[in-house]
Amino acid sequence: MKALVLGGGGREHALVRALSRDPGITSLHCAPGNPGISANAENHVINVRDGLAVTQLASRIRAELVIIGPEAPLVEGVAETLRDRGIPVFGPDREAARIEGSKSYAKEVMQAAGVPTARARTCRSQGQVTDALDAFGTPYVVKDDGLAAGKGVVVTHDRGEAERHARECGRVVVEEYLDGPEMSLFVLCDGVNAVPMLPARDFKRAHDGDTGPNTGGMGAYAPLPWAPEGLVEEVMTTIVRPTVSELARRGNRYQGLLYVGLALTSEGPRVVEFNARFGDPEAQVVLDRLATPLGALLQAADTGGLGRITSLEWRTGAAVTVVLGAENYPGDPVKGDPVSGIDAANAVEGAYILHAGTAWSGVRDIKSNGGRVLNAVGTGDTLATARERAYQAIERIELRGSFYRGDIAQEATANEG
Ligand code: AMP
Repeated sequence: MKALVLGGGGREHALVRALSRDPGITSLHCAPGNPGISANAENHVINVRDGLAVTQLASRIRAELVIIGPEAPLVEGVAETLRDRGIPVFGPDREAARIEGSKSYAKEVMQAAGVPTARARTCRSQGQVTDALDAFGTPYVVKDDGLAAGKGVVVTHDRGEAERHARECGRVVVEEYLDGPEMSLFVLCDGVNAVPMLPARDFKRAHDGDTGPNTGGMGAYAPLPWAPEGLVEEVMTTIVRPTVSELARRGNRYQGLLYVGLALTSEGPRVVEFNARFGDPEAQVVLDRLATPLGALLQAADTGGLGRITSLEWRTGAAVTVVLGAENYPGDPVKGDPVSGIDAANAVEGAYILHAGTAWSGVRDIKSNGGRVLNAVGTGDTLATARERAYQAIERIELRGSFYRGDIAQEATANEG
């Protein structure tokens, strides 16, 4: 099968890497890709939000499956543009992708499906915001109603900050704070059937100890040694299947990846958010552990064939990824500086580097080109080993002003037993 991956971040590098392990994949393309991806796939420079440009490329290279990595093309309807022209695609249509693109729509679907989530109010005026903040109390949770790359959410005890964020966003969702550990679950959906992947944990805040601003994600690990048995099945029963059925009832067959962000509260799992694509950086660790060939799985999501797959196969052991952030990320990151040490990092046993925000500098060298520059992935029999290897690798990278969190997977390894 010839496959085309859309996107050019760490998640897409992880997808390309996993696809390149699949013997059923005969040729791999990526648009726009990045320098790391070019080792496994042919990169093409196009605007991936432009459905026509994507269709033309897919036809030209005779792609038998287009895999949409980021949210922007989904929300702009690139999936249905491809489907309308008979090109198989992994990713939901625009209407179904609203589960990510609009927080208020997601709440409405959850309410109709009886899915446990935080109580919330959609607010269009400062007066409504004031009432909602009063009603739910601290910590305040204020979310931009549109797409904001994981950065549109403010969780704070500071009333002024909550009100300021609401003013800056316009239409917001204010909701009650959910207490408890967070977990991300990727679920492959074909419109009717849903197959869960390994649960993962990500780290949203910029700095150690979950301090600093929210980011796209600064690190992740999988699997979760602390997850109680039966948790994934409980999430499938109480959350995923009712949501997929509700979407189908509305005529929005959900085909693609449903990302369920959860808080494990004392009253059970509650949805924090849905996303319509693989999470970045959770994909980097989950796809690393996948033993089932990825290409056929993603294809089955498009053809309605997931019913034949009862469970996936996973490599034993664990994976940890640590994100290298550029100076000033998540604000206005510094770009264009030389990045070195990638070969040395790749030489660490059981570890490798995925490119995220990088670009070529000349023909051989790499420069920074985004807020999240690289991901170091460490693997091993235990989470502790995987963690150690990820840090050994990232320590070898040099980029002026860059930073990374030192506490990814730390607490979990302490409790690994
Ligand atoms: P979201 O974009 O909705 O995933 O929010 C980003 C991050 O904000 C989440 O991963 C949580 O860490 C935090 N967050 C969002 N909603 C809540 C909530 N209701 N209670 C506690 N934390 C939240």
